[in-house]
Amino acid sequence: MLRYQRMSTQAPAPPPKINLRRPDIMEAVQAEVLSHYRSELVERLRANGGLLSAPGLTVKLAKEFGFCYGVERAIDLAYAARRYFPKEKPIYLLGEIIHNPEVNDQIRHMGIQTISSKPAEAELAQLKREDVVIIPAFGTEVATRKRVEAMGCIIVDTTCGDVMSVWRRVREYARDKCTSIIHGKAWHEETKATSSQATATNAHYLVVFTLAETDYVCDYIVNGGNKQEFLEKFKGAYSTGFDPDVHLQVVGVANQTTMLRGETEEVQRRIRKAMEIKFGSESLPQHFRFFDTICGATQDRQDALSKLLTEPLDLLLVIGGYNSSNTTHLAEMGEAKLPTYFIKNAAKMVSDKLILHYNQHLQKEVETRDWLPAGVITVGVTAGASCPNNLIEDTIRRLFELRGVSVQELLAN
Ligand code: SF4
Repeated sequence: MLRYQRMSTQAPAPPPKINLRRPDIMEAVQAEVLSHYRSELVERLRANGGLLSAPGLTVKLAKEFGFCYGVERAIDLAYAARRYFPKEKPIYLLGEIIHNPEVNDQIRHMGIQTISSKPAEAELAQLKREDVVIIPAFGTEVATRKRVEAMGCIIVDTTCGDVMSVWRRVREYARDKCTSIIHGKAWHEETKATSSQATATNAHYLVVFTLAETDYVCDYIVNGGNKQEFLEKFKGAYSTGFDPDVHLQVVGVANQTTMLRGETEEVQRRIRKAMEIKFGSESLPQHFRFFDTICGATQDRQDALSKLLTEPLDLLLVIGGYNSSNTTHLAEMGEAKLPTYFIKNAAKMVSDKLILHYNQHLQKEVETRDWLPAGVITVGVTAGASCPNNLIEDTIRRLFELRGVSVQELLAN
């Protein structure tokens, strides 16, 4: 049973209990979601060990890929909201429901309007009491939620439970006056929402993204340094009033749910070591805490790709939205081993001579020529947690088409 809260600034009415998961609604939602994102080809491949072969070309799918439970739930709830509320009832979405452009287009197509993930007053002014506002899978900042609640909007909260686990951890740190060091992307909605949990309790946070940044922080902890330089270097990645000389005495490490596990563990290890050097082993428990908050779905996809990468492959295709954090990490894992192309859909494979793909280091789409080698090749395929199966199917079909093979005929044989 989902509970929605209607709040008024004067005398809030008791929150009505609305069950979006009514059997009739969910039955219709399931059918609609399947019709939009399902792929029989992908299901068939999954059942056959992820392999599809034609003379000269073999495609190998990672064992775990595509939609995670959190994404499925968020999409179901957004679709259910549209079905539950009458057509004329405005439904707004804070930013993107998940990081996949095709899915977001579909949601807009259903009449759900997108507003900023952190709406300014001018945008909020268009909302009326009892308008519906959907919070996406990666959550929203505490202040945004409170503001929307105060306007009397009905909130459909699709925040993933794994993201909320991180929030609980950061709130615990905050209660104990422990600064949260968050391994993540300061500009990502999830990390913004997570860091707002610290500031909502008047505590502090610092976001580190790379191991080089972590080393800089560790050096500061152990040896001190130039405070102005520190604050300039991490501009936009710490709480208002954060002072590295004061707020790095007691720290707790948490992470965005979709980071690379190996890197997150390294961040924890390095900060722990720095705190141990600074305060001594015996005092360490009073100065350092950590909690691994990588989500299970991210971990499963990374593990499955690690396994796939031990097999002989000529290249890897990673499918997903370019702003999808877990997908960029899959691409990063591939890049370390073999030619890897991060594409958002099959149309990016323009021909066997030209592919357009996202370069996360340059943060833009780039062209590569002669990307598909001639001769007998094996292509690995994986997809991020926000990528629907129909886009994976399109990619596989396009690959075979570029080799002059019809998947239809291949499956018929
Ligand atoms: S990637 Fe993980 S945290 Fe994000 S929605 Fe999926 S299960 Fe939840």
